Amino acid sequence: MSKKTCRKRYCNEPPVKYRYCKTHYSECLLKEKRRERALILLQTGEIEGERISKPDLNQEFIQLNSFWSDACIAAQTKADVGHITYKQAEQTLSLCKSLAEAFVDEELMYRGHPEGKGPEGFTKDLIWKKIIN
Ligand SMILES: [Zn+2]
Repeated sequence: MSKKTCRKRYCNEPPVKYRYCKTHYSECLLKEKRRERALILLQTGEIEGERISKPDLNQEFIQLNSFWSDACIAAQTKADVGHITYKQAEQTLSLCKSLAEAFVDEELMYRGHPEGKGPEGFTKDLIWKKIIN
């Protein structure tokens, strides 16, 4: 007999979509939405069409953006750029994306839209440490 429960581990709810239960399916949608917003933030500097309004976060974003641009160029040109070596480029890009996701959550909270927040992600400090190293 095949397993007719949610694909999320330890969840025994019945699946409604993509083998996820209702709760985990909406969690999955939120994660996707956050990932999409994070990419748009990195590409345009905007979340939902507006620049980051939280002052300290805006400063942090300037820093993140500079790592992101260096890593993009390093990945494309296969050469070291600034502090980013070509070998680190892919990893830095993925760390930048995770960090941008945390920024999206923080900014949406600041704007008073906590409902836009996805499930718990990595903490900013931890990701910054990895990027800088
Ligand atoms: Zn579930």
